[in-house]
Amino acid sequence: MQQDSQHNDEYTIQVQDKAPVDLAKPVKIHPPKGGKGANQYPPNDRIYVREVKGRVETMRRLLGFALMALFLMLPWLTYQGEQAILLNIFEQRFRIFGLTLWPQDLTILAWLFMVAAFALFLVTTLWGRVWCGFTCPQTTWTFIFMWFERKIEGSRHQRMKLDQRPMDADKFIRKTLKHLAWLLVALFTALTFVGYFTDIRALFSEFFVLQSSAWAVGFVLFFTFATYGNAGWMREIMCTHICPYARFQSAMFDKDTFIVAYDEKRGEPRGPRGRKVEPSKLGLGDCIDCNLCVQVCPTGIDIRNGLQYECINCGACIDACDNVMEKMGYPKKLISFTTERRLQGGETKVWRLKSVGYGLALLALGALLVLDVVFRVPLELDVVRDRNTLYRENQQGFIENVYQLRIMNKSQQAQVYSIHATGIEDLEYIGPAQVEVAGGEVHIVPITVAIDPYFLSASLVEINFTVTAESDSRVSRQTQSNFISR
Ligand code: SF4
Ligand code: SF4
Repeated sequence: MQQDSQHNDEYTIQVQDKAPVDLAKPVKIHPPKGGKGANQYPPNDRIYVREVKGRVETMRRLLGFALMALFLMLPWLTYQGEQAILLNIFEQRFRIFGLTLWPQDLTILAWLFMVAAFALFLVTTLWGRVWCGFTCPQTTWTFIFMWFERKIEGSRHQRMKLDQRPMDADKFIRKTLKHLAWLLVALFTALTFVGYFTDIRALFSEFFVLQSSAWAVGFVLFFTFATYGNAGWMREIMCTHICPYARFQSAMFDKDTFIVAYDEKRGEPRGPRGRKVEPSKLGLGDCIDCNLCVQVCPTGIDIRNGLQYECINCGACIDACDNVMEKMGYPKKLISFTTERRLQGGETKVWRLKSVGYGLALLALGALLVLDVVFRVPLELDVVRDRNTLYRENQQGFIENVYQLRIMNKSQQAQVYSIHATGIEDLEYIGPAQVEVAGGEVHIVPITVAIDPYFLSASLVEINFTVTAESDSRVSRQTQSNFISR
């Protein structure tokens, strides 16, 4: 009791919300709870996240702004007069600045996914879930939505009170404004996201005058509600119960992985005390048990219970605790980005077997990706024999076969290609010697090959077709077919 009153009188630490610490209820750690069939996510268990300021929060905001700006800007960039990034699924071609990828270029996409996966493994091994805390769209959008929530409904304490009181005009207006703001952000996000897959200028100009196609409207509405639902309502449920990365990332952790951790040796035994009281006299550690680290946690966990899979490494608890330590006059970093080995008094090893292995795999895959892009031939060639007539004899007694060459120009500029047929002595090629194909287009060229039967050694012989770009002889493709004479 004595301690409590001392705590009330002397301990007045408030972070951003102005609620006194002893008024703040501990955050309930969210479900699962209850028996079989119980509601896993009762609405009353929602987490009211307290705002916090500090160096980690500043870093996350700056990174969030930069990534958001990149996301919003990229689809508006033009390159050589075209939308620089256009992932056109309907036409099966992905344009990324000067590179156009077709279904035939799946290996490049496969390398790209593998590079991304191994980069994530390496980063997770070294720095834990920094992806989740600082760059994941779910976290970034959740923090944006929480910003609107705070601006419209007030601090954590005010939001709790607002939710507890019955509906009135003020509550109705605040709730309506909040959901409108969320929906607007979600709509803008969805329009931008869909703009990566279609002409973004047309999408924006047509959407608001109701002239978009049903597909475009359907996708925009779907992503609007997905963003609104994920960042507005589901929030930490997405991270703790749906995202598969949360489940398997522990496989990449070891004693040298950087995690957000509480220094138990220094903090325990925890307990409230006056600011001027020497903790050792009360037999206490540095943790004053103010619960602020729990109140700022977007997933509602208590980091003092040790590493938990719900922790997204956002570092909000670090800022909250550092602020408390500063006000108490204690050293900072009771909660910090650290490693298990460092907490046990050892030296963190950055390069160990696991991180070296992931690093080497990443280098090898990155090199393969670069080689595949550099040596990619922006030309595809297919040949199809005329199925109606196997062969025919012309007036000179020569045997003729008819083919269709399908030339695909995978570059973004028009190209002139020369065509050659080889493989049989004295063959006569009847067709265009050169064709021009527009960038990103397919051109079908019908051709005929005539041969004196005297030069045919069998009823079926192989014939080669070669197509070469006039501007660059390295851009060349050859394909084989059969010449049938009986
Ligand atoms: S760890 Fe820090 S923020 Fe958390 S309860 Fe203890 S003193 Fe408060
Ligand atoms: S425990 Fe700390 S780092 Fe982990 S999610 Fe909560 S606030 Fe973020």
